[in-house]
Amino acid sequence: MSVCGMSCVSRYCSAKPWRLTSLRHLPLSVWASSRWKHSASRQYKAVIFDMGGVLMVSPYRIAAEWERQNGLQAGSIWRTILSGETRIAWDRCLLGELTFEEFVKLCGKDPGTAIQTTNTVQSYLLKLTNHVSDGMCVAMREAVQCIKAEGLKAAILTNNFWFKGQSVLPSDKNLFDVIVESCREGVSKPNPEIYKLCLDRMKVCPEESIFLDDLGQNLKAAAQLGIHTIKVADRATAIQELELKLGFPLRGFVHGTRAVRKGMEIPTDSLKNYLQTTLGLSSEDAVLLRQFSHGQSNPTYHVQSGAHQLVLRKKPPGKLLPSAHAVEREYRVMKALGAVGIPVPTLLDICEDPSVVGTSFYLMEYCPGRIFKDPTLPGLTANQRGDIYTAMNHVLCKIHKVDIQAAGLEDYGKIGNYIERQVHTWTKRYRASETHVIPAMEQLIKWLPLRIPEQEKTTVVHGDFRLDNLIFHPDKPEVLAVLDWELSTLGDPICDVAYNCVAHHLPEDFPLIRGMSKCDLKELGIPSDLEYLALYCNNLGVNPIENWNFYVAFSFFRISAILQGVYKRSLQGQASSDKGEIVGKLAAKMADLAWVFAVREGFRIFDSIPVGNPGPPVRKYSTWNRQRTSPATFLSPSLLDVNHHRPLVSVPKGHLIISPEGLPTRVKDLYHRLTVFMDKHVYPHEKELADYHRSDRRWIPNPRIEELKNEAKASGLWNLFLPLETDPEAKYGAGLKNLEYAFFCEVMGRSLFAPEIFNSSAPDTGNMEMLVKYGTEAQNQQWLLPLLEGKIRSCFAMTEPQVASSDATNIEASIVEEGNFYILNGHKWWTSGAMDPRCKLCVFMGKTDPQASKHKQQSMVLVSMDTPGIKVIRPLSVYGMEDPPGGHSELIFENVRVPKENILLGPGRGFEIAQGRLGPGRIHHCMRLIGNADRALELMKERVKTRVAFGKSLADQGTIKADIANSLVEIEQARLLVLKAAHLMDTVGNKEAASAISMIKLVTPSMALRVIDRAIQAFGAAGLSEDYPLAQFFGMARSLRLADGPDEVHRNFVAKLELKQIGSTKNS
Ligand SMILES: Cc1cc2nc3c(=O)[nH]c(=O)nc-3n(C[C@H](O)[C@H](O)[C@H](O)COP(=O)(O)OP(=O)(O)OC[C@H]3O[C@@H](n4cnc5c(N)ncnc54)[C@H](O)[C@@H]3O)c2cc1C
Repeated sequence: MSVCGMSCVSRYCSAKPWRLTSLRHLPLSVWASSRWKHSASRQYKAVIFDMGGVLMVSPYRIAAEWERQNGLQAGSIWRTILSGETRIAWDRCLLGELTFEEFVKLCGKDPGTAIQTTNTVQSYLLKLTNHVSDGMCVAMREAVQCIKAEGLKAAILTNNFWFKGQSVLPSDKNLFDVIVESCREGVSKPNPEIYKLCLDRMKVCPEESIFLDDLGQNLKAAAQLGIHTIKVADRATAIQELELKLGFPLRGFVHGTRAVRKGMEIPTDSLKNYLQTTLGLSSEDAVLLRQFSHGQSNPTYHVQSGAHQLVLRKKPPGKLLPSAHAVEREYRVMKALGAVGIPVPTLLDICEDPSVVGTSFYLMEYCPGRIFKDPTLPGLTANQRGDIYTAMNHVLCKIHKVDIQAAGLEDYGKIGNYIERQVHTWTKRYRASETHVIPAMEQLIKWLPLRIPEQEKTTVVHGDFRLDNLIFHPDKPEVLAVLDWELSTLGDPICDVAYNCVAHHLPEDFPLIRGMSKCDLKELGIPSDLEYLALYCNNLGVNPIENWNFYVAFSFFRISAILQGVYKRSLQGQASSDKGEIVGKLAAKMADLAWVFAVREGFRIFDSIPVGNPGPPVRKYSTWNRQRTSPATFLSPSLLDVNHHRPLVSVPKGHLIISPEGLPTRVKDLYHRLTVFMDKHVYPHEKELADYHRSDRRWIPNPRIEELKNEAKASGLWNLFLPLETDPEAKYGAGLKNLEYAFFCEVMGRSLFAPEIFNSSAPDTGNMEMLVKYGTEAQNQQWLLPLLEGKIRSCFAMTEPQVASSDATNIEASIVEEGNFYILNGHKWWTSGAMDPRCKLCVFMGKTDPQASKHKQQSMVLVSMDTPGIKVIRPLSVYGMEDPPGGHSELIFENVRVPKENILLGPGRGFEIAQGRLGPGRIHHCMRLIGNADRALELMKERVKTRVAFGKSLADQGTIKADIANSLVEIEQARLLVLKAAHLMDTVGNKEAASAISMIKLVTPSMALRVIDRAIQAFGAAGLSEDYPLAQFFGMARSLRLADGPDEVHRNFVAKLELKQIGSTKNS
């Protein structure tokens, strides 16, 4: 009996929804859940049963018996109920307008009633309700179970009544998909509406269903709607008639089985002979066969002969690959493991003579137990669930503890390199079934071989170890048998543990198995995957597994490859295309999930790199931002104090690192990985990315960039920009200091495309940092997290065409309160990134209170880009360059309604936030500009070495040499100043570092313009073309003399502070 998600099942497997072994070999139609293939039943999808007289004894029969026992005239009870006033009351009772108790009272008052006491009717009806709640008659229950096992729906459609506050239904009502009762619906049979309701709820057409009732009028109404009908005069005959209509047997049900599928029949005569000779079973008993629903990879049958119940598992019919479906291997491993105490079904015999049932097969004993199909274990208490998981863990440990030599299994598989071989095998299989590119699979195929863990142990691995492959004791948390050893071999045991936890990471509505990714496992009493792993390590006495994410990634990779195989077969015509499409999508989903774990593993590796001891400060001689062999490291703090005539803002703690060689070990390693990544994945793709940038598709985000983003994530090169100061626990980023990040950002600045690939591009970085600092929990859930994941992009709308926006106090856009909303109106332009379809957030700056003091008038509001009232007027361009797909757009905000909770920090705080936001944003731009300039110089050097003019290489021309020298010097100067500003931000804070930030904002764009201009000149006309990044570098550097504040404003600011400083020095 099936109770709340667990089933008492056969000795062998039950109806498991997630059965990889079968998925591998079967057409999709067989694998999918509703899939009865028998031709006779194909037209039927549902069977509807009346209750009294069909599923259980007829109320008239009970009445007749009652009348006989009480000496009443035959038929008198129902005559009474169905006559006069009582009939009206009874009809109202069936419509739910009266309760049974009310009916009985009314019944007693009817002067015309033949039965004068209410007691008689009452006690009869009580007897009736007892009968109903006892449950269905055995034959009918079995018929319903058989119907359900074939994937058809079953319903009860009954005229019922309320009794003691509830309707009366059989105790085994859970077998039915739909129950329609007249008293609940206010309509009763034979009213056609109640039939329609029932069909509707089952989502079937009348012609797809069969209705069984004992009353002609009810059947007639059903037939008029087009429903097939069977009159139930005698249940056995009705079942036979139903069998004929459906085309499969409705007797001999065993949990987890169905009728033997077409093409899978076994010759029962020869099997019977065999059972007689080998097991000594009686020749008198017929051999009854049913097939287990999901053992199709190796078809598995329930065999009943007299009192004996066996399980037969065989190879499938037809031509097979030599190594596939090796039932002999299964038999061998189970026999060997059974002998050393592993719970497996008791094996009886193996027969390799194909003349018996067509292929080799083996026999096991059948025994009942529980199989849990739903990993959340509904119907159990939290403690019971914990016990079930613990028992599963124990049995897995037990398998992995088996001494393979003692068990005689030392040649059961190859020793060592298990994962490497597995990755290779599944990659090959995936390639063989590839129908289209699954980007995550491509990444995994590259990534997995690079991260193969060293195999510490070789054990028996089950290969498909899941909760629903275990049979538990009917009452105790004890595993009676581990099933389905088809994929077992010798290998790395952690693969079994990770695979055992896949349900932990799947969503609840995952079609193949119920996932638990959103479940509150604590409340359920189920260990998390990491707790389960810890329990395993503890049970086995092994060290904690560090690269768990790798194993989980590998598990999902394998599942994806399997599903892709199923999908390919479905396309080859073995299944309906809509189902094929679902599996195709699932394959991609599984690959994406695998990649999530690959990414986590990337971050884990980075986090685990030890923070090196910086060692003693050593004087360095170069600020050159690329790896050199020199031992360049640190400057002493005193060297910072270059302007001896005035004190520093304060004495900074720590050292100014002026080359990557001086970075702490952990950071240096990451930096090295960044440069390798740039060499391998960014520079080689620049041409392709630039071509896309100029193509018709340029306003659609480039999928190649998305792939590269994923690669960067997996390498732990993600969100590096978030400084330790903003994100002290490195919750969101890599926990780098501004100074450390300067080296990374410069490298990213060397390519126009790199910043986005590492999720470190403007304006997202500024917006993310702002949200980390000021965002509420809800704001961060909605925007920060997807931004950090690189799923969405954002823009910042401050500048307005009608006012000089270099002075932020001029901003005129209005933010007006209206109930629970703010209404935004304004005209903005140069809003970078707003045109990107991924742009979901706009940070809008406007005035909430024009009467407040100058710096308290502005506020910032977070606006969803899909809010009505936001209109893009046009994309602007810089020297004709549009910067797709984000662009720089002119926007109108017209009565844009934004919930009040979208305000950032509070009304009047906009100016304050803008100050905080611009500091890091500005320095990032400068860091990148150093990279631009450095790349331009590098390109120039290469070019001049290979070009000859007027008989000399360009490199030999004195002016070119001077240009190179000047560029080198200027880059070095600007870099040093940028590093100093970053160092000050780390050591004395952004506010104190404001002057240094303005200095670099003044120096760097102009420096970059000069360097890039020299490079363009040296390139000749080519330098202005699209073939090189120089023209774009130039445009970008030029715009940065305006964006984030024009030079003049920064000059003013530096001078103002300097004058103030001198004033305060004098005073002190
Ligand atoms: C490529 C690009 C991207 C941009 N992205 C964004 C974005 O995403 N969001 C956004 O809100 N804005 C953005 N901007 C706009 C940028 O921030 C503004 O252009 C900048 O703040 C200057 O404002 P303005 O254009 O209104 O110039 P104005 O304020 O009109 O200034 C014009 C000129 O006046 C002079 N000037 C101003 N003040 C002084 C002074 N005190 N002393 C002497 N001279 C002075 C300067 O020469 C200045 O260039 C972007 C601009 C560009 C070019």
